[in-house]
Formats: sequence, C-alpha cells, structure tokens
Amino acid sequence: MSDCIFCKIVAGEIPSIKIWENDEFLALFDVFPACKAQTLVLPKHHYDSDIFLMKNDVYAKLMFATKEVVSLLKHWLWVEKIWLVVEWLQVPHAHVKLYPFRWGKSFVWWFTWHTLANMAELQQLATILKSE
Ligand SMILES: [Zn+2]
Repeated sequence: MSDCIFCKIVAGEIPSIKIWENDEFLALFDVFPACKAQTLVLPKHHYDSDIFLMKNDVYAKLMFATKEVVSLLKHWLWVEKIWLVVEWLQVPHAHVKLYPFRWGKSFVWWFTWHTLANMAELQQLATILKSE
C-alpha cells in the first residue's frame, strides 16, 4: 500500500530501529512509545490492521514471531512481563504492540507517556538485542 507508513518502513523508505526480523515479519522500536522499548511486530506484507481478518496461517505466524520478540526483550531488558496490545486505531497495517513492563522503582522511569523516544538510547538497546 503506497501511503502506508509501515509499508514504507518495510521498503526502507522511512528509517526505523529494527531489532529483529525474518522473511515475513519484523520488529522495531516505536519512536513515540508509552514505555521504554515499546516494540512493534508487523508483517512485511500489508494486511489490514484487524488481524482477526487474517488467514489462520498468517495470524499464527504473526503470533509466533511476536513470541520470539518477547523472548528477546525479556532476556535482554530484564523485564518481568510484556503487555501485548493489538489495535487498529493509528496505522492501517497489521501490527502487535509490545509493552515491556517492570514493577518497583523503575516503574516511573520506565513509562514515558508517548513522548518522542531518545533515539540514541533506542539505537543502543537495538544493538544489544541484535547481538543475540
Ligand atoms: Zn502497510
């Protein structure tokens, strides 16, 4: 889809901080996150953002890709849980949002409330994640 921002990211027309990919899916850091290291997992092919319209095999592959990314985030960011949200409100390209979550003192630090991310910090985190 020519006017889709995620299709442009997949095509390399818009820069992004990718942390994982395979032949069909990729994961990248959200640059307007609600928490540090908020991550998006999306198919490289354009599918409607209502993932429940996907064929079962594509839907299952999206969930398996998401599970791989969750493992990566939990291992490298030492987070306790990952919240998973699927919504269709902002970008009409199927995607899963992952919110790494920590309890305790770091909770306030961890949440950023949709401000522009510190790109240098995200790039540093991506370097760590991709070293796996
Ligand atoms: Zn798209």
